[in-house]
Amino acid sequence: MYRIIFILILLIILYFLIRSAVRELKGRGAPDRLPADKNQMVQDPVCHVFVPRGTAVTEVIGGQTYCFCGRSCADKFQKQMAS
Ligand SMILES: [Zn+2]
Repeated sequence: MYRIIFILILLIILYFLIRSAVRELKGRGAPDRLPADKNQMVQDPVCHVFVPRGTAVTEVIGGQTYCFCGRSCADKFQKQMAS
């Protein structure tokens, strides 16, 4: 009888340990992923300058997303695609 109670207590402790470990992993992973994506460097196809995705001007042209350093490059690219 005592062995069953001992095993049950062990299982409960194990359950809480795993749950807190998973929560810690999730908490650590989530905030890291978002800024990493925002700070991901993307190349402007017009002037070939690298800009962070968070500040880049994005345009969807022909179903593909392009990132530009500014409005002028986006307009230039659209004119190039149209011609
Ligand atoms: Zn540019």
